[in-house]
Amino acid sequence: MHQIIRNLELIRASLQDAATAAGRDIAPTLLAASKTRPVEDILTAYEGGQRDFGENYVREAIAKITAINHDDIVWHYIGAIQSNKTRDLARHFHWVHSVDRSKIAQRLNRDREGLPPLNVCIQVNIDAEPQKAGVRPADVAALLEMIRGCDNLVARGLMAIPAPTADDAGTPSAFARLADLFQALPVAPGWDTLSMGMTNDYPDAIKSGATLVRIGTAIFGPRLPKSES
Ligand SMILES: *Cc1c(COP(=O)(O)O)cnc(C)c1O
Repeated sequence: MHQIIRNLELIRASLQDAATAAGRDIAPTLLAASKTRPVEDILTAYEGGQRDFGENYVREAIAKITAINHDDIVWHYIGAIQSNKTRDLARHFHWVHSVDRSKIAQRLNRDREGLPPLNVCIQVNIDAEPQKAGVRPADVAALLEMIRGCDNLVARGLMAIPAPTADDAGTPSAFARLADLFQALPVAPGWDTLSMGMTNDYPDAIKSGATLVRIGTAIFGPRLPKSES
């Protein structure tokens, strides 16, 4: 059996175990973070039953999406968003996890016209790191309200990439804080996604309520140099 397929089976079992340990029946959705990975690796994962893939670099992603052309794959954009790339994102992806300002939401809404609504998550800078992408927790509610006013977008939830943990005993983890923020926001149809957890921290994320984990290294092996910035 191919290593990628073996890895997928191990991770699925591990997601189920983590969900069970957290008292949940359903394991989180597994998103395969496939940035820098060649088309062959994505097709191998597909053969292993994987259907959700996440990409970070627009040009690389569109080349792969166009080459692969399986219409049951769900393509997620999880990278930083430049405003001149919103049309490419709106036309090629099913989900965008990294919306962090109203200008981007407005442009995605405009560029999605004529297609089914685009699923979006708000990326939260949960640890208020100066250089990191994401909206500050205090500003999430306003951005959410704006997105909910957009006919071609559906707000699905929150996404975050926490700072490497300092492990301060007693303080709630970044994942727990994101989950609290998610719960505190007004509910609306489609509001069901907590996109958090990567190869090194997904068990903790699931413990805090992740509904979708984004995993690259544990599926595809150590990361390759990126092909485009
Ligand atoms: C690359 C990436 C991941 C996956 O990271 P791994 O540590 O390889 O599992 C998850 N989320 C985002 C936003 C990424 O860019």
